Amino acid sequence: MTFKEIISRLNGVSCPVFGVSWTPPVPDVQVARRVIRFLEDRRILYNDFAWEEPSHCVQSALEIRRVLTTELGNLKDGSELVAPLRAIRAATRKFLDASHGDFGTRRGIAHDFGFFAALGELRASIGSSVAMLAVQYGIDVEDELAKTLPVADSDGGKTIEAGHPIATARLKDPMEQPSYRGEKAGPCPNCDWPETVARQSRTTKELYFGCARPKRGPAEGCNFKGRRSH
Ligand SMILES: [Zn+2]
Repeated sequence: MTFKEIISRLNGVSCPVFGVSWTPPVPDVQVARRVIRFLEDRRILYNDFAWEEPSHCVQSALEIRRVLTTELGNLKDGSELVAPLRAIRAATRKFLDASHGDFGTRRGIAHDFGFFAALGELRASIGSSVAMLAVQYGIDVEDELAKTLPVADSDGGKTIEAGHPIATARLKDPMEQPSYRGEKAGPCPNCDWPETVARQSRTTKELYFGCARPKRGPAEGCNFKGRRSH
């Protein structure tokens, strides 16, 4: 799955898009790519039968922890990568704590509901972090690992926080006709604010996209209106 396809999986989580709203430092891109390639190899994260081997899952979680600790040690102070890598590491910590050596040492199939719950949570949590890393650092993700990514909103759109230079690739073109009031499109062709919102004309009831940039003063607001005939 390409990182551009993954943008739709962020479901409203704000994150700068690689090559669109920012360009991360090359060494950080290399680290992010290395981490994703490594996670693509962790079958605990997507294998349907992982629960048959609880002790293997615990070993794998320990390995993820070890690799992330090493990568974190290589990052420069203030790197944007610190937070997502720590989040992944924290998810493995939570999984290991939940296992507290119980099902970890047992051989054979896990019967413990706690194990399924902990494994599900580990996958979901790492999936969100992988989605953000992929979008932020421009990294495509292999289909197997992509199974852990959050599912896209059913309407295919996404909510974005005004003011964030974030994912807009799946949003409508502001020059198209909006389908309903409040629908978001973007970015503004006039001032590049990342979001435009559908409004309704009081007189004609016609829908149009207007720039969502906050009006700071009478002179500073952007007056962009898309698809208005009058
Ligand atoms: Zn504007």
